[in-house]
Amino acid sequence: MTDFAGLTAVVTGGASGIGLATARLLAGRGAQVAVLDLPASIDAGLEEPLAGFTADVTDDTSVRTAISAVAEHFGGIDIVINNAGIGAQGTIEENEDAEWLRVLDVNVLGMVRVARAALPYLRHSSHAAIVNTCSIAASAGLPRRALYAASKGAVYSLTLAMAADHVREGVRVNCVNPGTVETPWVGRLLDSAAEPAAERAALEARQPHGRLVSAEEVAAAVAYLASPDAGSTTGTSLAVDGGMDGL
Ligand code: NAD
Repeated sequence: MTDFAGLTAVVTGGASGIGLATARLLAGRGAQVAVLDLPASIDAGLEEPLAGFTADVTDDTSVRTAISAVAEHFGGIDIVINNAGIGAQGTIEENEDAEWLRVLDVNVLGMVRVARAALPYLRHSSHAAIVNTCSIAASAGLPRRALYAASKGAVYSLTLAMAADHVREGVRVNCVNPGTVETPWVGRLLDSAAEPAAERAALEARQPHGRLVSAEEVAAAVAYLASPDAGSTTGTSLAVDGGMDGL
């Protein structure tokens, strides 16, 4: 399928996990794909044909520089996959203010910075789309995820607000809500557990369909929302969670 032919997509956090699966899928369907990620990830090298651009989403200058460089390199930007994010565990009594500010800076303000820098380019596209990676944690009431859930709840609200603000400029904004996804992040979570096998079993049991979600399944949902096929879809969230929310 070449439904993204002629379109340029920026994927933040595109060097790993859900972002990498999305970058691969979009490139395979004809997009020119720019991966924005931290220096260590970009310097480690990306597979062809993904193009790497260094940016830390907590640093507005580095975001603006990278977005300008992508637009100059590819002649514009049509799609932004706002995916870079970090996890956090704990109750409100376990996470200090500094940890709250750090996670909100990456997970919420990071998306704002990238979208803000890209909007002047998106407005020139006839297929402009932003897809934010939210999480089912925003609505599922998971234990010891207060900070993470609040950050993703903010991403959900931000998605709706941005969709309303930019629909008349031809920019669609949607989000995906993954359940627990098999990525390096979850691998790190399992590695740090006292009993990794039991923790994996618990995560799988939490998903009504009895297994973790694959990064490719999330990428397929992201690609749909980013594609011209979704031209009349904006301000929505698409769950990819095996029925975790709502069953
Ligand atoms: P991952 O750790 O495999 O990949 C995250 C990527 O983001 C990495 O390449 C990392 O370098 C990059 N990144 C982190 N901080 C950054 C920063 N300040 N600037 C630029 N890049 C930065 O994680 P993943 O599991 O693929 O998660 C990707 C997104 O999906 C996150 O937003 C996460 O909240 C969301 N999500 C993940 C799951 C899951 O179970 N894995 C579930 C729901 C939502």
